[in-house]
Amino acid sequence: MLLLFFKSIAGYQKALSDNSTSCLEAVNCFLSNIEASAHLNAFVEVFREESLERAAFLDNKRKEGLPCGKLHGVVISIKDVISYKDHKVTAGSKMLANFTSIYNATAVEKLLAEDAIIIGNCNCDEFAMGNTNENSVYGRVKNALDTNKVSGGSSGGSVVSVQADMCMVALGSDTGGSVRQPADFCGVYGFKPSYGAISRHGLLAYASSFDQIGVIAKNPEDAAKVFEVIHGQDEHDSTVSSLEYLPMRSMSNVQENKPSYKIAVIRNLLNHSSLDNEIKDAINTLAYDLKKKGHEVKEVDLDLVDYMVPAYYILTTAEASSNLSRYDGVRYGFRAENSPEEISNFYKKNRSLAFGKEVKKRIMLGTFVLSEGFYDAYYTKAQQVRKLLAQQSKEIFKEFDIILLPTVPSTAFEAGSMVKDPIAMYLADIYTIFANLSGIPGASVPLFKHSNGMPFGAQVLAARNNDVTLLEFSNLLFNHFKRN
Ligand code: GLN
Repeated sequence: MLLLFFKSIAGYQKALSDNSTSCLEAVNCFLSNIEASAHLNAFVEVFREESLERAAFLDNKRKEGLPCGKLHGVVISIKDVISYKDHKVTAGSKMLANFTSIYNATAVEKLLAEDAIIIGNCNCDEFAMGNTNENSVYGRVKNALDTNKVSGGSSGGSVVSVQADMCMVALGSDTGGSVRQPADFCGVYGFKPSYGAISRHGLLAYASSFDQIGVIAKNPEDAAKVFEVIHGQDEHDSTVSSLEYLPMRSMSNVQENKPSYKIAVIRNLLNHSSLDNEIKDAINTLAYDLKKKGHEVKEVDLDLVDYMVPAYYILTTAEASSNLSRYDGVRYGFRAENSPEEISNFYKKNRSLAFGKEVKKRIMLGTFVLSEGFYDAYYTKAQQVRKLLAQQSKEIFKEFDIILLPTVPSTAFEAGSMVKDPIAMYLADIYTIFANLSGIPGASVPLFKHSNGMPFGAQVLAARNNDVTLLEFSNLLFNHFKRN
């Protein structure tokens, strides 16, 4: 069953205010969609009773004329790496199979304070490491458009929960593309804000200097509404910027040609040999169409393109090896029965039994690049690459408002087809990691359909903290340049 009245948060809230629907009706509808789509494996847990109760509570509140929050009645799912007090958070891992959050992530706290309804937590790659959602202890998430294909990852469950109408909006996390890449594969909007725009308090860490909570929605306006609520300073996370992204200009006022944007297309990334020809043509045509409408479009080249993926995987695995050291069976995580008494064997046994293959691989790689004798050759070099990329991004945004790129080199592929080739899998992150390496905001806007039947998006990037520009430009593309 499809929730016929849900097109946008604004439309839904209007329907609530003229009594043509209720929160309870919405939640019931999504719950039945969740049941009907159980085979997609998008949810780890559905908070059924609780979301029905909250819906009834919100309906009463509204009927009594009490003030309603900005996200009144909005039905949201969260990725299984985001803490929600008294609910399980397991990072798709056996390591945390029985772990219950003892506090709310700041983003969750802010959602609840504005009357949102959290309907469940969503499947993901273990500790957010991966790009197919095949690295989860709960099994893979299926793409609703073709269940033989991957959903993308690591926020695959969150994305499919929006794709298949199991909620209105979802929170994911994006360390190297995990919101934008599955959004691209599933035909929805995925927005990764600037690093530090949303508090990471309560987000289970993968690579802390990259991690960012992101929003998945059917359209950019809904994502903007959620972003407006969850961004902002937090005493629990000192990396959050004090910027207020308010007020957002009315996004629907953005016209085809006004305001006029300065757009950079990165030529050497667009000419990369891994890119599917049809995707390349679509991005080139989009650039041409934008130019025709009066926007300024120019080609630029980016240095160090071939170093981006290696730098990303060196730095993130280094950070992961440190972040994941807390999962030892004492402070956190799985403890094996009949554990050895000697402490290092005890840790070894717990960690060997509870971490999956990909996570182990990354912890070992990260430990290696941080080890004496290799630190300068790998870690320091990668930091230098990161610094130079951030400088280049600053330079580009002195002249341009937006960078236009593909999101992923291909459309969603067959499940299992990349498992044997991890290098190819890592290289497929080439378009998304630039935003994370340089801390800038990025989004994948669902615009196209490939001749193979699968959707794909255009990726747009803006200068650090210009998230509002990015959302507005996304809206322009979404409303006026859709080709699917
Ligand atoms: N595919 C990337 C990785 O495996 C991105 C992950 C992410 O953004 N969480 O590291």
